[in-house]
Amino acid sequence: MSLETILVPCYTDNYAVLLHDDKTNKTICIDAPEARPILSALSERNWSLDTLLITHHHKDHIAGIDQIKEITGAKTYGPEAEKLQIPGLDELVKEGTPLTWSGREIDILETPGHTLGHVCYHFKEDNIIFTGDTLFALGCGRLFEGTPAQMWHSLSKLMPLPKKTKVYCGHEYTLSNAEFACKYEPNNIDLQTRILEIRAARSKNQPTIPTTIEKELLTNPFLRASSPELRENLNLANATDEEVFTEIRNRKNNE
Ligand code: ZN
Ligand code: FE
Repeated sequence: MSLETILVPCYTDNYAVLLHDDKTNKTICIDAPEARPILSALSERNWSLDTLLITHHHKDHIAGIDQIKEITGAKTYGPEAEKLQIPGLDELVKEGTPLTWSGREIDILETPGHTLGHVCYHFKEDNIIFTGDTLFALGCGRLFEGTPAQMWHSLSKLMPLPKKTKVYCGHEYTLSNAEFACKYEPNNIDLQTRILEIRAARSKNQPTIPTTIEKELLTNPFLRASSPELRENLNLANATDEEVFTEIRNRKNNE
């Protein structure tokens, strides 16, 4: 694949991502937390942005839209369900909307929970998904608008993606998520190994993103409702997966 991926740190813990196809010279950006770092990342590389994709309406994902559009003219796509909350959208998308960029198809997955209109963008041929504030490395978004049942359903759409799929999320929350996860699955060897890698990366101020679907299935407590150890530690041995998810989400809220 000829795609180059650049993670652009914004504010204290947000990420935007740039994808550049050197065959077509096209560049796309996912989310617009703030304009300045994104515009500098583009100009350092002499890339011109043609497309901007927005996952959801929170300020820390859309504050840069105006300025980025003004300077680059990028065509901006975002969820139809949040059109009133996201100024500057040129095209509205929902699950099933055909979307192509630089010759590849992008699947749109509706993933309500964090917000009601949240969407994820799946670049199938490149095995990359942008999960915004739905799925984090070792975590999931807070339920500001949706119910636990909605979020569990949304996460259940991401879990069957090919294991090697790279996951880019909207925030660097991984270390604190890992510490939380360890409380509930202290004997999970994959998690123990992963937390060492995360500590090492963060001590050098390196990102822990991207992760993969495989890593998340093995270690992310919000995807591990089927884990006997997790269930035991929540006193929910015989509960449904959705009940286990709801409880682990509540514990994280009350941390
Ligand atoms: Zn958010
Ligand atoms: Fe956010």
